[in-house]
Amino acid sequence: MAVALVVAAGSGERLGADRPKAFVLLAGRPMVEWSLDALRAAGIEEIVVAVPPELDEALRAPLRAAGCTVVVGGAVRSHSVRRALAAASAGRELVLVHDAARPLAPPDLFIRCVAALAGADAAIAAAPVTDTIKEAGQDGVVARTLDRSGLWSVQTPQAFRRDVLQRALDVPAETLAAATDDAWLVEQAGGRVLIVESSAANLKVTTPIDLEVAARALAG
Ligand code: C5P
Repeated sequence: MAVALVVAAGSGERLGADRPKAFVLLAGRPMVEWSLDALRAAGIEEIVVAVPPELDEALRAPLRAAGCTVVVGGAVRSHSVRRALAAASAGRELVLVHDAARPLAPPDLFIRCVAALAGADAAIAAAPVTDTIKEAGQDGVVARTLDRSGLWSVQTPQAFRRDVLQRALDVPAETLAAATDDAWLVEQAGGRVLIVESSAANLKVTTPIDLEVAARALAG
């Protein structure tokens, strides 16, 4: 059985809310709670949540009441993952990492990521790229157009063998700060990372429009 690390320690400045993004109300509940429900529905028993250091006790208490371990996150995302991993029970050899900012991840996606670890060091949810992607210089002039047939837009959940993730996170602060996902750290260390097909419906809430779309999806 895997342990889940839910990173919820970001400030979410782009959302412009009066509280950290993971705790903004989404369809009547703090955003992070939707991910906790999906993880429980996937059969995950142990969940560690990384929260911002200044988070009100009134927002932390429901997480503990829901049976989660609560830890204070770090300055950058992967630092929050490292802290959450340190709080996970020793017996858990498989780890799911999930952003609280993706409240629409369905239970079966967590299950499929863990199952895919049978043939990999890491298994990551990703959607096929549907836009045309171009690379441009500082001057805005297009240098080339990428062949999108092999491109994936990477999401969470991301599942890892615990020892692999532990080693990947055991890097200098500058390297942690450069990581926009944990799988990159595993790739850097030569690990085998497998794609688990997801869809754009597993959106990341970044702006107020994303919040509106997510609320509509949850309202059915
Ligand atoms: O800022 P962004 O949306 O990319 O963050 C992705 C996820 O990482 C969010 O769920 C956020 O709460 C989390 N995070 C964190 N610790 C940080 C920065 C981000 O747990 N220092």
